[in-house]
Amino acid sequence: MKHPYLNEDHEIFRQSLRKFLEKEAYPFYEQWEEDRMIPRSFWTKMGEQGFLCPDIAEKYGGSEVDWGFAVVINEELERVGSGLVGIGLHNDIVVPYITSYGTEEQKQRWLPKCVTGEIITAIAMTEPGTGSDLANIKTTAKLDGDHYIVNGQKTFITNGIQSDLIVVAVKTDLQALPKHKGVSLLVIERDAPGFSRGRKLNKVGLHSQDTAELIFEDCRVPQENLLGDEGNGFLYLMEKLQQERLLVAIGAQTASEVMLKMTLDYVKSREAFGKPVGQFQNTQFKIVEMTTDIEMGRVFLDQLIAEHIEGKNVVTKVSMAKWKLTDIAKKIAAECMQLHGGYGYMEEYEIARRFRDIPVSSIYAGTNEIMKTIIAKNLGL
Ligand SMILES: Cc1cc2nc3c(=O)[nH]c(=O)nc-3n(C[C@H](O)[C@H](O)[C@H](O)COP(=O)(O)OP(=O)(O)OC[C@H]3O[C@@H](n4cnc5c(N)ncnc54)[C@H](O)[C@@H]3O)c2cc1C
Repeated sequence: MKHPYLNEDHEIFRQSLRKFLEKEAYPFYEQWEEDRMIPRSFWTKMGEQGFLCPDIAEKYGGSEVDWGFAVVINEELERVGSGLVGIGLHNDIVVPYITSYGTEEQKQRWLPKCVTGEIITAIAMTEPGTGSDLANIKTTAKLDGDHYIVNGQKTFITNGIQSDLIVVAVKTDLQALPKHKGVSLLVIERDAPGFSRGRKLNKVGLHSQDTAELIFEDCRVPQENLLGDEGNGFLYLMEKLQQERLLVAIGAQTASEVMLKMTLDYVKSREAFGKPVGQFQNTQFKIVEMTTDIEMGRVFLDQLIAEHIEGKNVVTKVSMAKWKLTDIAKKIAAECMQLHGGYGYMEEYEIARRFRDIPVSSIYAGTNEIMKTIIAKNLGL
């Protein structure tokens, strides 16, 4: 049967990416986890091989390929470890703001370096006082001549330490009603006066992913760094959050598949009471339940990705995939750890890291509770 969006070209691409990751990522990944950082050299190596932003136009350095290639990249990175999530965020969440809403001048200035990895990007919406309630952000940007003066603080920002270019959600109109009409997006660059990084945050998991606070104190940003139109920021965020949530669903599904595979191997080889633990009925039932959840999740997800690539409105289904597949992945992480016995709790076994990494998937990109409020609203409730 024909795959809903992948063909032979994607498969060839997957093999070459996998080979690249076997040489450049797998052997170093544990070290990156300890360092709490992925080296910049890995980003530029990804760029040299065409693994950063391959979907963008050739005139900006991209390969103009379909989004199926992005799916392959995100799946293969997740197979190495969830700590590489910042690369998918760069490719498929932040850079698309520039390609969709940037001026020609902005695109020429930034996109080629996003493709080579010389520019690492981030998106800063969340603040210490607000995450889910985005219309209530407090970071302000006031026009002063031909510059915006930005004041405020952001937190939990992926790629926060390494980023060179950050798409920042700011309030340009404090009086706007409804409040979300006062939100705009500004591109703030590494050397903007008044911009500094706060703490690199100490997280439960995703250790190799740097996550940080950002501080803006009378930060001067040229007016030409406004992305799109003033007051449209919230709308842009809502449009792009669909792809962001789909990425989280893809990551969760891939993690579930990886965890099941390693557990299946383990229960076949580990023996208790004179036989492999996979011979106990409880183990078999758990494995069967997980396999069923994974198979059904994959079918739903692949169909959804195909619809997203076709440009269909998939808001409700994306919200469903995001909450359900991340919930399943969390359950699978716990079951797989249990089936590993004591070794599952040891850092030498990958399931321990997977167990730490997965819970955030139901929190970021909009919590699973927020996903359910979206679905309920779209059901007319
Ligand atoms: C590792 C990590 C990386 C992140 N990366 C980024 C990033 O790159 N950029 C960025 O901008 N943000 C990022 N975030 C922030 C993330 O998107 C927010 O943490 C998330 O949206 C939740 O916001 P909050 O933490 O303020 O929780 P809150 O909004 O305070 O929510 C607390 C609880 O209340 C629930 N809740 C809130 N509102 C409702 C409601 N209406 N109905 C029902 N329940 C509700 C939530 O579901 C949650 O359970 C990251 C977070 C983490 C942990």
